[in-house]
Amino acid sequence: MPDLPVKSLETDFLVAGGGLAGVCAAIAAARNGARVVLLQDRSVLGGNASSEIKMHAAGADCHGSKPGARESGLIEEFFLEDTVRNPHRSYSQWDLLLYEKAKCEPNLTLLLDTDCIGADVITDANQLKRITAVHAVRQSGEEAFHIAARYFADCTGDGRLGLEAGADFTIGREAKSAFGETLALDIADRQTLGSSILFTARKHSTPQPFVAPAWVRKFSDADLKLRWIPTSSYEYGYWWFEWGGQLDTIKDSEVIRHELLRIALGVWDYVKNSGRHPGAAPWALDWVGTIPGKRESRRFIGPHVLTEHDVLGGTLFPDQVAYGGWAIDLHPPSGVDAVKEQPYTPTHFPHLYSLPLRSYYSRNIANLFFAGRNISATHVGFASPRVMKTCAIGGQAIGTAAAVWLKKSKDNNIAELTTSANLHALQQTLLRDDAFLLGVKNDDPLDLARTALVSASSENVVAPASHVIDGITRDLKATFGPWSSDSIHHWESERLPASLTFKLPKITAVREVHLTFDTGFERELTLSASDSLTARMVRGPQPETVRHYRIFCDGQLVLEETNNYLRKRVHRLPAQSSGRLITLEILAAHGISVARVFEVRLYS
Ligand SMILES: Cc1cc2nc3c(=O)[nH]c(=O)nc-3n(C[C@H](O)[C@H](O)[C@H](O)COP(=O)(O)OP(=O)(O)OC[C@H]3O[C@@H](n4cnc5c(N)ncnc54)[C@H](O)[C@@H]3O)c2cc1C
Repeated sequence: MPDLPVKSLETDFLVAGGGLAGVCAAIAAARNGARVVLLQDRSVLGGNASSEIKMHAAGADCHGSKPGARESGLIEEFFLEDTVRNPHRSYSQWDLLLYEKAKCEPNLTLLLDTDCIGADVITDANQLKRITAVHAVRQSGEEAFHIAARYFADCTGDGRLGLEAGADFTIGREAKSAFGETLALDIADRQTLGSSILFTARKHSTPQPFVAPAWVRKFSDADLKLRWIPTSSYEYGYWWFEWGGQLDTIKDSEVIRHELLRIALGVWDYVKNSGRHPGAAPWALDWVGTIPGKRESRRFIGPHVLTEHDVLGGTLFPDQVAYGGWAIDLHPPSGVDAVKEQPYTPTHFPHLYSLPLRSYYSRNIANLFFAGRNISATHVGFASPRVMKTCAIGGQAIGTAAAVWLKKSKDNNIAELTTSANLHALQQTLLRDDAFLLGVKNDDPLDLARTALVSASSENVVAPASHVIDGITRDLKATFGPWSSDSIHHWESERLPASLTFKLPKITAVREVHLTFDTGFERELTLSASDSLTARMVRGPQPETVRHYRIFCDGQLVLEETNNYLRKRVHRLPAQSSGRLITLEILAAHGISVARVFEVRLYS
């Protein structure tokens, strides 16, 4: 094999893998001041949520059945942008949105079509191993890269970077005896959840034939007895096209891809030609995936291994950096071949649970973080946080940790950095960047709003102005856990226009204003090819969200925004913005006639 010319790069934080976990890790680190390189082996970002696979990102709100639990932060920003700019649900536009977010981030270098294939690792005098650089190739450009960095993140799903670096990992399903999990097997094995290939279909005005290729599977009524095919529409099918967990989902990927294509086309043949779905006559395939969507492969081992007990017990970890709420969602590894088994056996629970930073870094490679489906968890423990919005907030957490701890450490040893003071600072940075942590409030001493007297032009008696500095940026439900209660944490005016005024203790130069608006956490928001799921969402600006507002400093207008649709806005004010009274005037919302604001922060 000819040697490729090698380009040497140097950065602060290298992220391998551009699924939602990797994209959020890279952008969070870049926005917090780190220089970042993001490697993605394919031409688009988003992983299983991209146009290549078209799986909808779900999260702790379980498709809206846990109202109020929706993930905030970067992933909320992406989906709010998507719903406004892409109401028609083009997956290519979603890909391009993620591309824009990464490409336009000044501190971030995006290398697409670039595979991470190796790592340089050193062992120091204390036998501590750390990665110094990764090796990558871009075959399309006939080039290779040697990228030195201080921190690394494996967000490849399959764990390729960690594998190359020698990070401890596991594959398969533990026995009950390993962690005392009731949902675990009696005897451990190496099987995993399977992979899937999805399709989309379109309704035409005339009947459309489907001539099944000879090589596809034949399905009978009995094969699909426990697999649900709706009869009302056929636009998106079907997550239970699952197979291959009984094989090695990495090494056997070609075998798995072929079988998944046989299954996807075979089920479509059944829909079109079995006579059981006459309503499908005008429907025709529009797109069929070619890259298997993978659910599970390697899981790294960190200082903490997340288990069923943490998920079902709603554990509040002192080093929490993310949270989950999706059911423990286990499937038979052989998928459609397990004809007599339900395609999934979810264990539902009402609460949310926290995810500790210790599940997001390696126990034996000092400077390796990970996020996504390869975090440190048992097979049962992982079956809840594997959903993509949970992967995304974990990504934001590790990207933020890498950036805020860059300046703190000489030897990049993550474990040494997890002191309670550093973890507190990390949690506060995450909250400032619109993350949600269970029972943790804003106590940022630099936030001037917390020292101000807050008043409003009008206020709903249950949603007073003081809520915008109570440190909590969403309405809570008692069902979230024993630490929570049914409580409102936003200000709501009685009418529009409305204003909020902050009287500071003395004349102060205010340089930055942070605003957190209501974007309807009572509903689900994601991008889905499913019409029925989408019918429960608002594709466009969320009606609760403030659209038009102005900021005044001692009565002088310093900023006006006429078309906001985001939840979190950070505004740099002009240098001459000094005063004692900061006023936020709200003139219009997208679809309601009152103002709703969760938080205002003011910084010098
Ligand atoms: C059919 C199916 C249904 C599912 N249902 C849901 C659902 O309804 N909702 C939900 O939220 N989740 C669902 N999941 C789970 C979810 O999709 C995964 O857990 C999630 O995608 C994991 O995110 P990730 O970022 O870790 O990995 P991925 O999404 O797999 O992203 C990893 C990225 O890394 C890249 N990569 C891999 N190796 C390298 C390398 N060596 N160098 C550079 N880049 C590399 C890959 O190209 C990929 O883009 C489903 C999964 C499947 C397959």
